[in-house]
Amino acid sequence: MRTCLSGCIQAQPWLSFPAGGGIHMDSYCPPRWKEKVVIVMGATGTGKSRLSIELATHFPAEIVNSDKIQVYQGLEIVTNKVTDEEQQGVPHHLLGVVNPEDEFTALDFRHLASLTLESITMRRKLPIIAGGSNSYIEALVEDQDLEFRSKYDCCFLWVDVALPVLNSFLPERVDRMVQAGLIKEVRNNFDRAAAEADYTHGIRRAIGLRELDRYLRSEGNANWETRSRLLEEAIDEIKANTIKLACCQVEKIHRLRRRHGWDIHRIDATDVFRKGGEEAEHAWEMLVARPSISQVEQFLYG
Ligand code: ATP
Repeated sequence: MRTCLSGCIQAQPWLSFPAGGGIHMDSYCPPRWKEKVVIVMGATGTGKSRLSIELATHFPAEIVNSDKIQVYQGLEIVTNKVTDEEQQGVPHHLLGVVNPEDEFTALDFRHLASLTLESITMRRKLPIIAGGSNSYIEALVEDQDLEFRSKYDCCFLWVDVALPVLNSFLPERVDRMVQAGLIKEVRNNFDRAAAEADYTHGIRRAIGLRELDRYLRSEGNANWETRSRLLEEAIDEIKANTIKLACCQVEKIHRLRRRHGWDIHRIDATDVFRKGGEEAEHAWEMLVARPSISQVEQFLYG
């Protein structure tokens, strides 16, 4: 642990002094050293959550969710939130905390995430921001007054899977979500009394809700064949929209890299998805977990 000249404890002991030996005798403390933040990016379904938890079990870290839909309470299956068991005791922030009816904008995210990062670094932990909402990450990192950049050094990790491979995996994941109870979960949150639902606000923007609307309305007033057809169409639509989301997210990562010159380390996880069973686990370890850990090690101690 290090103590700065005016007596405060340096939050992250792995940090080095700023280039040029910039130690000032100010009467107040930070920011003398920039704090460090890891940002895990990637399209839906690529393993961002798994990687961030693995990193957080390797380094003393806490995770900040940056998925604009997972911030809301409820709809655990639809929104693919990590379960308590999957979290492995790693503290997760901004996950399932916002009222489903409320708007939670990129600016709200910036505000809450900034406070959360401060509290994590005060606990001398490394914040790992993980999630697919690139607009939220951009709002946080590239704020108008450059405050974030003046406080934090960022290590961007991008878990990437070649889209043709990811696009054949995502429909299977939707099938698993359906088996896990996605339809029932949406039905329990479906307001049959409303003549028309608004799928443009709050958690209702989640992929899966708008798509199931016609099917759920047909329950009780359509025959079995019609209902089966509507359900099949809805599930196909969920699959198509999930694939579309993944493509948009990848495009956005490329755009962010160009627009802001972010030094994003691409971790190619494609082979993990090409393999199955133990081979996939081995590929994950060799191609994703280890390279990411050494990237973060270099970032922290480098
Ligand atoms: P955009 O500006 O296009 O909204 P973004 O970077 O702010 O992009 P994304 O994470 O790409 O946010 O989400 C875009 C849309 O994808 C959301 O509005 C929602 O419809 C859907 N979506 C995102 N995350 C989830 C999720 N976890 N579960 C269900 N749907 C999601």
